[in-house]
Formats: sequence, structure tokens, C-alpha cells
Amino acid sequence: MMMSKKALSSSIVNYVLGEQRLICLFIGIIVSVSALSIINLSPRTISSASVSLDHVSSTSIPRRITYELVDHGNVNAGMWKGAVGIEEEEFESIDRDHKTNVMGTLNMLGLAKRVGARFLITSTSEVYGDPLQHPQVETYWGNVNPIGVRSCYDEGKRTAETLAMDYHRGLNVEVRIARIFNTYGPRMCIDDGRVVSNFVAQALRKQPLTVYGDGKQTRSFQYVSDLVEGLMRLMEGNHVGPFNLGNPGEFTMLELAKVVQETIDPNAKIEFKPNTEDDPHKRKPDISKAKQLLGWEPTVSLRQGLPRMVDDFRRRIFGDDKLDSGL
Ligand code: UDP
Repeated sequence: MMMSKKALSSSIVNYVLGEQRLICLFIGIIVSVSALSIINLSPRTISSASVSLDHVSSTSIPRRITYELVDHGNVNAGMWKGAVGIEEEEFESIDRDHKTNVMGTLNMLGLAKRVGARFLITSTSEVYGDPLQHPQVETYWGNVNPIGVRSCYDEGKRTAETLAMDYHRGLNVEVRIARIFNTYGPRMCIDDGRVVSNFVAQALRKQPLTVYGDGKQTRSFQYVSDLVEGLMRLMEGNHVGPFNLGNPGEFTMLELAKVVQETIDPNAKIEFKPNTEDDPHKRKPDISKAKQLLGWEPTVSLRQGLPRMVDDFRRRIFGDDKLDSGL
């Protein structure tokens, strides 16, 4: 016997509502959603957590994921422990540079892909290692020790560039790569151990300038505003890079010490100390590519930029607001 349409729909409604089937259905949905949210964090959630950052406590993150939140609120890495197969303490012992450059980059590339952002890799002249080519052109592949004390940084940045290019080629993420050479300027960390900040702070505090090794190794020092201008042009332009962003003015560490003496204290003493392992002998960027494609080149020489940094360091070290070089 054929049922009328009305009778059919009323019997379906009766079936669904009968014997508390609807309540059971709701309970089932709630249980499934809760279970999935605990064990199955989607990649989108991982990346969001990676950037929503500073105040994320490890207790708010499921245990299968290890997050390392470091000073300045950077998220070094978020990764599936099970997938990588390392223990918490092993993870802690991996160098911070490596975590930031490799895992941090991977996280952020994933995020950039999902939100369609343009992605900047602030790479470094370290990718050239102890260069056998001078000055360094972007096409030079470098001379890097893969297992030395600096390798976590050098190889970490090289991997970061590789990952960026993979995402660019394979997943159409818009990336830009800058290879930044030694940069200095106001607001630099006073005691971070870099040569310019060390010499300036030492001269101001009437301490000897610590020159490592024989002081004949060279670096090219770039003033921070030049770097910022270069990065902005890179991000606003159409070229992926990599681009060297640095000042081609090259100085030995002894020459730098002399400029610091002239700027701060002609009587500042020099003290030689043993150099660190694998310290690159020479560094000087070839910036032809940036000049041609970004229309960029540095405008602030070391002798112009250093006094600006000295004013800022003087204020921060001595709390003296009256001094100003007028630059
Ligand atoms: N250096 C030095 N005295 C210091 C700190 C660094 O002579 O107090 C040397 C260091 O050995 C290296 C150069 O300065 O040859 C640049 O060091 P920095 O850490 O500023 O930069 P990077 O080596 O990363 O270019």
C-alpha cells in the first residue's frame, strides 16, 4: 500500500523524536567534537598558535605538541613530538638559532601560505660562511662548515632560504629573501657581543676595546636606516631575491677600533683576545643586484652612522639626555 507524502514525513519525524534518539544524536556530536579537538589539531590551528604568541602557556596547548617560547615572545618551534621522535630535553638542547631559523621559518611559511601573506626571510651574510669569493655576490654558494660552532646559524639560515624557495616554487607563496650584512645603530642591544656594540660600550665605559684574533679580519658595517630602506624596497618590489643588503665599505677590526677611538676616546686601549672558531676572514657585499633591481644603496657611512649610535649608547649607559651629535 502506498503511503501519502504527509504520512511518510510524519512517520520520519516520529521515528527521530522517539526513544530519545535526538538527545543521543546531540550527545554523540558533542563527544566527537571534543575528542577531535583534543587529538587532532589541524595545521591551521598550529600556525595560529605560533603567531598568537607571547602569552600562550604550555598548559593551554595539547601535550602532543611541544612549543618553545623564548625571550622576546618569539615562538621558536611548534612540532609534533611524535612525528619528529625527540624528547623534551633533546629539543631543549637544539641550538636556538636552529630552532628559530628552521622550525620557526617552517611554521611561518605555513601561516603565510594559509593567509596569502608575502613572506620576508631576513637571511644573513653568514650563508657565505668563510667566503672564498670576494666581494660576495648572491650567486656565490658559500664556504660553510656544517658541523662547527657557527653552523647552527649558518646552516639554519641556509635551510630557511631553502624552505622559503620550496614554498615559493611549490606552493606559490610570495617570498622575498634579504641577506643582511653586519648592521649597527641606535637601540642595539648594549651587551650582545657584536663587535660594534662591544667597542662602543667599552670605549664609553673606559674599558679596553677587545679585538679578537689579530684584528685583520674584515666586516662591512651597515647603518640600520639603510637596511630598513632596503627591506622596504624589497617587500614592495617584484623580485624574490636573494639580495645582499649591506654597506660595501670594508674595515678590519683594527680599523673599526680606530674609528671608535676617533669618535669616542682617542686614548681608548686595545686588548687582543683569542678569536672564536670558524670566524670568517672577510665579508663585503656585492650590491650590484640590489642597486639595479631595487634602486637601493646605502647612504650612511660608518663615520656618519657611528656618532648616532654613540649618542644613544651614551644615554642608555649613563642616562645622559643632554648629549647629541646633531646628526
Ligand atoms: N669581534 C672582535 N671583538 C669583539 C667582538 C667581535 O674583534 O668584541 C670580531 C669577531 O671576531 C668578528 C667580527 O668582530 O671577526 C665581527 O663580529 P660580530 O659578532 O659583530 O659579527 P659577525 O661575525 O656575525 O659578522
